[in-house]
Amino acid sequence: MTSLQSEIEQRGKRIFELVDKYPVSLFSKAGFYQRLMTLSMRDEQLKLQLFRFVAVLPSLHTSDEIIEHLQEYFADGHESRKLAEFLGAGIRLAGIVPWISGPILRWNVSEMARQFIAGRNPIDVMRTLRKRQAQNIGFTVDLLGEAVVSETEADEYAARYLDLLEGLARETKNWTDALENNSELLPVVNLSVKISALYSQISPDDPAETIAHLAPKLRPLLRRARELGAFINFDMESYAHKNSTLELFKTVFTEEEFKDWPHAGIVIQAYLRDSDADLRDLIEWGRARGTRFAVRLVKGAYWDYETTKSRQNGWDCPVYLQKPESDANFETLTRLLLENESIVTSAFGSHNVRSIAHAQALAEQLGIDRSRFEFQLLYGMAGPIKRALVEMGYRVREYCPVGELLPGMSYLVRRLLENTSNEGFLRAKFSENAPAEELLRDPREILRRSRNGVLQPPNATINMTTTTPKTQLGAHYENAPLTNFALPENQEKMRAALREQRNQFGRKVPLTINGEKIWTDKMFSSVNPSQPDQIVGYAAEAGIPEAERAVAAARAAFEKWRRTSFEERCQLLERAAEILERRRFELSALEVFEVGKPWAEADGDIREAIDFCTFYARQMRLIGRPRLTQNVPGEESYQHYWPRGVALVIAPWNFPMAILCGMVSAALVTGNTVIMKPSEQSVIIGAMLMEIYEEAGVPPGVLNFLNGKGSVIGAHMVDHKDVDLIAFTGSREVGLWIWESAGKTREGQRELKRVICEMGGKNAMIVDSDADLDEAIVDSIYSAFGFQGQKCSALSRLIVLEENYDRVMERLLGAAASVRVGNPEEPGIMVGPVIDEAAYRRILDYIEVGKNEATLAYQAKDLPPHGYFIPPTIFTGLKPNMQIACEEIFGPVLSVLKVRDLDEAIEVANGTDYALTGGFFSRSPANIERIKTQLEAGNVYINRPCTGAIVGRHPFGGFKMSGSGTKAGGKDYLLNFLIPRVVTENVARHGLAPEKTPEYRDEFLWPKH
Ligand SMILES: Cc1cc2nc3c(=O)[nH]c(=O)nc-3n(C[C@H](O)[C@H](O)[C@H](O)COP(=O)(O)OP(=O)(O)OC[C@H]3O[C@@H](n4cnc5c(N)ncnc54)[C@H](O)[C@@H]3O)c2cc1C
Repeated sequence: MTSLQSEIEQRGKRIFELVDKYPVSLFSKAGFYQRLMTLSMRDEQLKLQLFRFVAVLPSLHTSDEIIEHLQEYFADGHESRKLAEFLGAGIRLAGIVPWISGPILRWNVSEMARQFIAGRNPIDVMRTLRKRQAQNIGFTVDLLGEAVVSETEADEYAARYLDLLEGLARETKNWTDALENNSELLPVVNLSVKISALYSQISPDDPAETIAHLAPKLRPLLRRARELGAFINFDMESYAHKNSTLELFKTVFTEEEFKDWPHAGIVIQAYLRDSDADLRDLIEWGRARGTRFAVRLVKGAYWDYETTKSRQNGWDCPVYLQKPESDANFETLTRLLLENESIVTSAFGSHNVRSIAHAQALAEQLGIDRSRFEFQLLYGMAGPIKRALVEMGYRVREYCPVGELLPGMSYLVRRLLENTSNEGFLRAKFSENAPAEELLRDPREILRRSRNGVLQPPNATINMTTTTPKTQLGAHYENAPLTNFALPENQEKMRAALREQRNQFGRKVPLTINGEKIWTDKMFSSVNPSQPDQIVGYAAEAGIPEAERAVAAARAAFEKWRRTSFEERCQLLERAAEILERRRFELSALEVFEVGKPWAEADGDIREAIDFCTFYARQMRLIGRPRLTQNVPGEESYQHYWPRGVALVIAPWNFPMAILCGMVSAALVTGNTVIMKPSEQSVIIGAMLMEIYEEAGVPPGVLNFLNGKGSVIGAHMVDHKDVDLIAFTGSREVGLWIWESAGKTREGQRELKRVICEMGGKNAMIVDSDADLDEAIVDSIYSAFGFQGQKCSALSRLIVLEENYDRVMERLLGAAASVRVGNPEEPGIMVGPVIDEAAYRRILDYIEVGKNEATLAYQAKDLPPHGYFIPPTIFTGLKPNMQIACEEIFGPVLSVLKVRDLDEAIEVANGTDYALTGGFFSRSPANIERIKTQLEAGNVYINRPCTGAIVGRHPFGGFKMSGSGTKAGGKDYLLNFLIPRVVTENVARHGLAPEKTPEYRDEFLWPKH
């Protein structure tokens, strides 16, 4: 054993001795809390329900509501028995409900929250801080709050921080340092600040803007802290904010005014894989700056969030996946900090005795006096460890959250999770009484053993791969990852792509018919809606003769293409996906210019196009081979599919690559030949898809590219006898016309035309009385105004229960006023321009209608001077039958409807011609179940935005006047492009039948390739 390890063990054992001198349970509060924790640790499912219930409780207004929720959360017989146990009652839930009073439950939860929240307000918290002062424990105070959704809320927050600082300085004027040695390093007053509380529009892709906005907000606080001799620490939050927080810290504290101020600190999270590089960078910065600064080293509070989020988006997971990795890295960074003690003051934020003992032992080995660093622990946690550390003569500071119960709920739930985590030190020591030797093991040793296969940590199985999606049979389908714009390298790639696309302005694209490039006399110009005097490109415009040629080419190519094996066709899609991936930034940048998409939206569109290719290739492999219908001796009966013929694809501009590519790829992979007609407004992107498929090797005539007016060539081809299938996504008006017109049989027509028709929506989201408003507001604003409200899935009617109405509106209007409107070439913009002048005028007309019909509750003011920018607008006081509440506007206009109760909400939500998307924000399990069955929408989203469908995960499409019921990106989508066929052969000869009939057989292809 190394001398450091033996020193760690000695110190660790000493801490345990001191801890055990005054034995307390981890859950020192008996009763409600104790039972909650015990039960939670026994049953993971119940833990989830209990914590969810705890989270919703403070927002319930009456006893009846509390009881209702209790019944809903624990209605299941198994759980109700456990709950009865939890509440201390030995009877069934139904029996106990009448006498469980809401106020008592609420009181219990408040008491539990008080265990982790040091005070309700700055005055209240002083009682706690004084007690701690007497115990030689210092403090850092943090302000709890709701998620900041608007700049009004952010300003209030900043004012509260300032108030708190003043109060703390005043009340602790005469306090002295506990160790009376090196006290200048660590002032008494210490404030922990969360930057997300000071700015509602932090955008991970735009750290420069975040800094430009936050620095002026922080300066008064920092200035005052300096005058008062206080210390300011920047807390660290989710990974998306990490780079901005670090940059902000370095920027502000390099400024002349603060350059020589040593009382600034920042958090480094050891669970992050890049924490080592970040800390080295900080230290280098600190040395160049020439003034001390501080680092609080922690493992990190958002492990579950980061792993879930990265899995959802297909990102490399930023955190370590095995707990000992975080522990080992904590120790590596401890060494880095202590070895640079001359410039950085360390605070070790941990409750883990091994991590603490390691820091102590290493400091001793390096000869660093114990008064020159400190241990920080959370209020309400690990009390005995704090006491032990004080007794050993170390500096201890407690992290004390201040605030009311409701805003404090997410903090409380984080602490409850931490206390009950299977992986956590606290549970192992104080609940499971793990022996000291086990708790003090070297994490590197644990990892070494795990690599030898001796020990498998519980999370080792999580696979965070971001490799190309696998489309082969049997493989688990993976979507392409989104681009993570929080990473500086991706920001830089996007900027470079935008520069490059700018240089390409004015490019010319031809038609492609039968593999030939065709230029016509007429050129159509596609403009940048942010600056309509900029021409993104010119496209040759087709007339009827070119449409005729294209149909003829597609028809001629069909015979060969239909006999090309599906495997070859699948591979074509996969090659297209690879090219899309390779050209990803270029295509995203082009979308920014041609249709005004914000960065992440543009990237999402390209990602979706990639997904369509890989997903449909995979689906085709699943249905491509003839499959036995029933196993009957003597007869072989196989069902398989034929393509329909010539497919006409008419796509919109709002998802210019994804929808076009989705429909084209589905048609191609199923063996149809295609004429693709992109929207005139996004024709350059359409031409890029042609280029991509050509590079991928699509044979001449199989895919043809026609640009032209829908009313001319579109109409001509819809009616054409040689077109067998029309895949359309667009407006209701055009969709209904196609549906009708395609229904007429023309002379010489071979097939009944199949129409895949996806149209608009008038999508509603309902906000229940118990909804989590932090989420409901942010998600509603994004659903309504993201990409200027130009998604068919966008929110246009927000239906709010009257009980909650005032609070929702106050926060919603504030949030709307904070949204960033501008040229989407800049990162972090949520609302860019609408697509063209016609849309601009039409939406403004609707706004005028709204002003006459309803109350204009909010309209943005500062818009860019050029371009088709529509101010985000909110109307209230609507009746469901008003024009703006019924008609699709396709712009950033939101109508809010107040309703009495959920019955009325559902009636209003369902009371339109459309059924595309719908949403619900609620924490009532019963109401959520009701919405699942009753909301009329093809895609129902609960407690999340109603836009952003992902291929394979959220098959997309609506019914009623929203569409013909097809689901793009769904398992059965390809069947719309196919004709099912069954081939039956009697294989018995004189009663003698083969013993086995294979489930699949080869394709019926003739001639064989
Ligand atoms: C005073 C103080 C201030 C803090 N400030 C912040 C802050 O600003 N930002 C922040 O993010 N955190 C902060 N934390 C940290 C956080 O809130 C947790 O308290 C801390 O991570 C728990 O670590 P531990 O060493 O006490 O316990 P341990 O039980 O040793 O470690 C638990 C931690 O290990 C990590 N972990 C759990 N499972 C895994 C796994 N499977 N693979 C890899 N790692 C895993 C997680 O980080 C988890 O929190 C702070 C903590 C303290 C004490």
